[in-house]
Amino acid sequence: MAKVEKKLVKSKSGYKMVTVDERITSPFTIDEPPWTPDYACSNCQNGECHIKFDFLKRKHHCRRCGQCFCDDCCNSLIELPRMCFIDPVRHCKGCAIISKRESEFFDKHLRILLDGGRFLLRSDCDIDEGDLVVTSDRACVCTLSVDHRYLEFKGDTQEQENIAVQKITSVEVTGPEQDGQGHGVTIHYTDAGGEAAWLKMDVDDTSGQRQQSMSWLAALIKAFKLMPGSQQASSSP
Ligand SMILES: [Zn+2]
Ligand SMILES: [Zn+2]
Repeated sequence: MAKVEKKLVKSKSGYKMVTVDERITSPFTIDEPPWTPDYACSNCQNGECHIKFDFLKRKHHCRRCGQCFCDDCCNSLIELPRMCFIDPVRHCKGCAIISKRESEFFDKHLRILLDGGRFLLRSDCDIDEGDLVVTSDRACVCTLSVDHRYLEFKGDTQEQENIAVQKITSVEVTGPEQDGQGHGVTIHYTDAGGEAAWLKMDVDDTSGQRQQSMSWLAALIKAFKLMPGSQQASSSP
């Protein structure tokens, strides 16, 4: 896929680099919050501070949550790639912790997902009408698409349809099998036809890229946790 075209826009909080075509916005982005109006807060909204605003104590809005704080409670300038800001922006203390934690995903895990990993795939499509499971797994390279919206699969055997990142409903971690081998996940998602589907991805130990593929799975779980409404990745012991 070609590089995603982006443009520079100015919002009330600063300059942002956003996709020209908003239909291909990264699923990891979030909208800017509405700001608490000035008239609605006479005191700092940090419960532990709650200092009264006056002409010396000025109001500042946290760019991440939109609440109103005094300078002491809202003075961290932090990168906020999820809102596409090109410069660090003002954060309250609570939001600063969240954005710093997320920065690891954008600095490290996102690149791992784009680089891809090698997996053996098995899906519900491998079970035919007579419930006969196809025993040979499909070797595939899995990458995140450049617009971050799909998991893409390239293999030399059967085709595996792309999975829309926003349509993933759960990521179940599957531990080593009885022989101590095999690390993987089962992704449950809604397919292009609106049907519930699943795909089991096991690290391809024969590929010589085991570590990279393991890191890819860890990055996928981080990505899933960033999806709105999917805070939990279930795991089996
Ligand atoms: Zn905040
Ligand atoms: Zn305060």
